[in-house]
Amino acid sequence: MAEKFDVAVIGGGPGGYAAAIRCAQKGLSVAIVEKEYMGGTCLNCGCIPSKALLGSAHFLTQAKHANLMGLEIGSLKPNWAKIQARKDAIVKGFRGGVTSLVKGNNIKVFEGRGIAAGNGTVKIENNGSNEEITAGKIILATGSVPIEIPAFPFDGENIISSKEALSLSEVPESMVIIGGGVIGCELACVYACMGCKVTIIEALPSLLPNEDDWVGKLLEKELKKLGITSLTSSKVTAVDAAAGKCSVSVEGGDDLEASKVLVAVGRRACCDKETVEALGLEMDGAKIKINEKLETSAEGVYAIGDAVGTTYLAHGAFMEAEVAADNAAGGDETMQDYHLIPRAVYTFPEVASVGRSEKRCKEMDIEVEIGKAPFRSNGRSVAHNETVGEIRVIRKKDSKEILGVSMVGATVTEMAAAARALIGSTEEITKVCFPHPTVSEVLKEAWEDAYGISIHVPPRQ
Ligand code: FAD
Ligand code: NAD
Repeated sequence: MAEKFDVAVIGGGPGGYAAAIRCAQKGLSVAIVEKEYMGGTCLNCGCIPSKALLGSAHFLTQAKHANLMGLEIGSLKPNWAKIQARKDAIVKGFRGGVTSLVKGNNIKVFEGRGIAAGNGTVKIENNGSNEEITAGKIILATGSVPIEIPAFPFDGENIISSKEALSLSEVPESMVIIGGGVIGCELACVYACMGCKVTIIEALPSLLPNEDDWVGKLLEKELKKLGITSLTSSKVTAVDAAAGKCSVSVEGGDDLEASKVLVAVGRRACCDKETVEALGLEMDGAKIKINEKLETSAEGVYAIGDAVGTTYLAHGAFMEAEVAADNAAGGDETMQDYHLIPRAVYTFPEVASVGRSEKRCKEMDIEVEIGKAPFRSNGRSVAHNETVGEIRVIRKKDSKEILGVSMVGATVTEMAAAARALIGSTEEITKVCFPHPTVSEVLKEAWEDAYGISIHVPPRQ
């Protein structure tokens, strides 16, 4: 007889394991089916390994400025094998952590590919052996895959996705990165700092085109200092790849030679065809269609995370996991205001934003006032020799409401949640005491400047 659960979760990434744990905390019996590694893309080939490599790259860039800080250190040389081993150990440690969290919450883990077959049945295929479980509710958290460019598909060797780029056995001499979005810019920082000659080719007019133009332009200028060339408004028409040499044809430009071509042009939601067919799921292209309660078109079946293509962010998946879990347990929660989910990019310098951007306000015909404060006049930033960038706070002109915050600078990702707390606020800033000297005082100055009351930002003419 098939084992019975209150909830079966398909996929053990941030969406899946968080939903499973929340369901278990609510007293439900829960199963997770995972076909590869617990922790999903984020833990195994996304957020965590990329940040581990960025951690080494950041340390190296900092150390290069030792002299300026009054320190004399010997020669600096990255040891890529050790950097990779450190990254692998970090991933392994967290994978063990997630596995024991799941076990500690009495969640049963099934290894294999899970297919929802209708009527609460989940079929599990593992190396030819088949098993079946049943559940009252099902949560689909099957994630996403990198988008391939059909004219030059991934070959895993010369034309690679972020997955291979995180585990290269050596630092390539040169790399062309197609796509100047989040993955392209983060991995460009890793490889440029390791001595690789990196060129980013972005189809739109600036890097990180989802952010306001000043953000992408400033990032481009700073990446140039790391030796990264950015070709914006540019398109690759062909890649001719053969054993360690790729010839990249750029529309209207000269051909480029590169040891590796990393394609980072976005990710596509995924859900097994068999599940879609068996449940008759309504889809929006590759994304599973959901309503505000994260219910799919099939009764008792929820979908979350990259599989629904709302944010393509781990913390977006975490939030959706909690809502779906509450609802699977009989609650009535909804996911709203996706623009309030912060965006954080771990480049050098970092980028973070939340709420409405200036360009989004323009599209929405909202008139705005912009409060600005630079890091160069902040005591802590100067002390740390991290003076690049600024914070902009976007305020609705005809009211006092804060609509958005955009930040470029060292450690701004750590301020993204604080910036989120500003959205919708008015002038209560004077009641919040920021310790001095801290980098976060720049957020206070930009916030006050949006009302023309900053102490340290000179008055506007
Ligand atoms: P996933 O993490 O993709 O998990 C889905 C899981 O489902 C996988 O483990 C898969 O094996 C499993 N699965 C799929 N189908 C089945 C099946 N039929 N049966 C059983 N198991 C199945 N986001 C951030 O917020 N911050 C970052 O810094 C960040 N960095 C990133 C860096 C890179 C290089 C990449 C690629 C992504 C990054 N992301 C980041 C995005 C983040 O990884 C994803 O948004 C997040 O992993 C989505 O979680 P998920 O649970 O929806 O899907
Ligand atoms: P992305 O959407 O951030 O960027 C893709 C970029 O490729 C865009 O700028 C787009 O204009 C460009 N592009 C598309 N087609 C192109 C072409 N043919 N030639 C040149 N440029 C082209 O996608 P990504 O960088 O692949 O990342 C995928 C997802 O992973 C993101 O949506 C993000 O949410 C997530 N992620 C998040 C983080 C983070 O939160 N720090 C880090 C990495 C990845």
